[in-house]
Amino acid sequence: MATVRFEKAQRWYPGADSPAVPGIDLEIKDGEFVVLVGPSGCGKSTTLRMLAGLEEVTDGRIFIGDRDITDMQPKDRDIAMVFQSYALYPHMSVADNMAFALKMAKMSKEEREVRVKEAAEILGLTPYLERKPKALSGGQRQRVAMGRAIVRKPQVFLMDEPLSNLDAKMRVQTRTDIARLQRELGVTTVYVTHDQVEAMTMGDRVAVMDAGRLQQVDTPLNLYDRPANLFVAGFIGSPQMNLLPGRVIDGCIDLGGLQVPVPAGSAVPSDGRVVVGIRPEAWRLVGEGEGLPISVTVVEELGADGFVYGTSDLAGEEVNLTVRVPGRHAPAKGEVVRVAADPEQVHIFDAASGERLSS
Ligand code: ADP
Repeated sequence: MATVRFEKAQRWYPGADSPAVPGIDLEIKDGEFVVLVGPSGCGKSTTLRMLAGLEEVTDGRIFIGDRDITDMQPKDRDIAMVFQSYALYPHMSVADNMAFALKMAKMSKEEREVRVKEAAEILGLTPYLERKPKALSGGQRQRVAMGRAIVRKPQVFLMDEPLSNLDAKMRVQTRTDIARLQRELGVTTVYVTHDQVEAMTMGDRVAVMDAGRLQQVDTPLNLYDRPANLFVAGFIGSPQMNLLPGRVIDGCIDLGGLQVPVPAGSAVPSDGRVVVGIRPEAWRLVGEGEGLPISVTVVEELGADGFVYGTSDLAGEEVNLTVRVPGRHAPAKGEVVRVAADPEQVHIFDAASGERLSS
């Protein structure tokens, strides 16, 4: 097992105008499960591939434990990678697929068999060892790909969108399996996904990336409760946090007649221009004459709760709003409802820089 440390690691693709990853600083603890998440093209895979040795590091260094692996061959790094496409050899049995890298490393047949047997048991693949990949389900093939990584007993697991070829139900199941397995094995893991729900449910910590840069590295709950900037606020959470333009006057933000107190400890910019962040569940329905009126345009009834989507007029600007409501009590499309925000759950951000202002 080992720590992983990126020190200003940069990847500049030949011929590109700017680096895909200008310089990443990230420390991952021994045994930790860190998820890199962000929209497509933000540099997640590039970061992972630099660690794997599949992309050259243009500047900066990367360490596994005390070893500087920046210029090491992938095979010498003591890592094992699981890709989106399982890339199993179709003509080989499950057992041979799992043992292949060990055979290449000239490990004895006896030792290979022991390792494959152990991994198969952990993964529930024992009954399938003699099958060919085509006789397995998508989820089972994914487990064989995991098995191939496990048998190597690497210092670090690297996973690049390993669940994206599975259907929705299998994805949820396998996500739990991988998270449980990682905790059992205690192997430091870096996992890449564009899916924020996957990131939030699997990671000990989640590193949110945008445009090649880390925006925030934190526990799932801290990301949700204290997003560091507007990007993280909008990216984490579904449906998205409501982000509304506001102006602070005398310690209060006026949202279309609804007065929202500025959260204690906020550093308000001199021009008073802020963006107010209110999650769908931080609203409550209030009576006539109170709160902010919303014209309901879409209602989603999910059973336990529901989401109301609507529009409101904020100082002459029409804004879209999402409000969570209790199940079976959702208002109807076309109705006007009034909402107020829980002051404890109000976030404010600098309108110019996007940085968080509330403590
Ligand atoms: P992500 O994994 O977050 O989708 P990538 O790391 O694949 O993002 O890509 C980051 C940026 O680098 C993108 O702008 C992408 O177009 C660019 N990029 C990725 N691979 C290459 C490559 N081999 N050559 C040139 N540019 C690349």
